[in-house]
Amino acid sequence: MGEFDLIETFFWRRPGQGPHRAVVGNGDDCAVIAPAPGMQLAVSTDTMVEGRHFLSTVSPARLGHKALAVNLSDLAACGAAPLAFTLALTLPRVDEAWLKGFAKGLLDLADEHDCELIGGDTTAGPLAIGITVMGEVPAGQALLRSGAQVGDDLWVSGHPGEARLALEAFRGSLHPGLGTEAFEATRLAMERPDPRVALGVGLRGLATSAIDVSDGLLGDLGHVLRRSRVGVALCLDDLPVSPWLAIRSPDERLDCILAGGDDYELLFTTSPAQRERVAQLGAELGLVLSRIGQIEAEPGLRLWRGASSGASEGRQAVPNRWASFDHFKGAA
Ligand code: ADP
Ligand code: MG
Repeated sequence: MGEFDLIETFFWRRPGQGPHRAVVGNGDDCAVIAPAPGMQLAVSTDTMVEGRHFLSTVSPARLGHKALAVNLSDLAACGAAPLAFTLALTLPRVDEAWLKGFAKGLLDLADEHDCELIGGDTTAGPLAIGITVMGEVPAGQALLRSGAQVGDDLWVSGHPGEARLALEAFRGSLHPGLGTEAFEATRLAMERPDPRVALGVGLRGLATSAIDVSDGLLGDLGHVLRRSRVGVALCLDDLPVSPWLAIRSPDERLDCILAGGDDYELLFTTSPAQRERVAQLGAELGLVLSRIGQIEAEPGLRLWRGASSGASEGRQAVPNRWASFDHFKGAA
């Protein structure tokens, strides 16, 4: 099968299949798209390389899903609605069964988010997937890392930490290991993340700043603090704990939640006056949204336990041992 047959067979949609919103879609030298009037384009790229960003054990369908999901997660963090994406695919060989599974995982998620595959590039080489995604957001309303205000609440969606627990199970570094049910559930979080696109769109005009958690909660929170020139008091007792992490040791649980990575949850700040709206948004989306801290003027990260965020009596400072987190170092 030649390059063009491969592209047409696996990645081009027929009329009636998937979204067709590009002015010029797949098959010309350029695709041409137009955002709706009054909207701005939000653009982001993420590359995944075998061995570095995914394990060879992942199914092709889950890999296709994840390659797009991590890009949609960046759009979500900006409050942008997906429009279209391009796919740069580097393949060691033409494996039709693999391509079929990969395209299905990729295009099912694309269809779910009304995001059209409008072009790409296909080359031979070590397996790598590069995706550039484009979304639209009302002019001036993109959510940025730089907007957190002193006094704002800090929120996180979902249950960060599960993906890291699965990764450590793969690495064989957990004692005791995970049972079958916990392994399959956390493996799903790692291999098939659900990008928080609807949450991002719902946070337009509500969140003062946002970021998606891809490199670990504390690390990504650091980007918001630096860009916004603020600090935070984060209450460890308020962190959402997934059932699979609740039964692990306290150290392992916190390591995974605070410094795990690959979560693709949103971390965002809002004015305390908006608590009800945030709660309502979470209920509408069926998504757990947890208020985990408060933005402060003094730069830096302060960890507490023993009192809910906001209250100052009974607070106990916890040293930040995740500053240069390396608990699992050497395990791989
Ligand atoms: P060019 O030589 O102009 O770069 P290519 O031969 O690379 O064009 O690609 C031919 C057409 O197929 C283009 O429209 C390109 O966008 C599309 N295409 C190539 N690879 C992919 C892919 N992996 N997924 C979707 N479309 C692709
Ligand atoms: Mg090309």
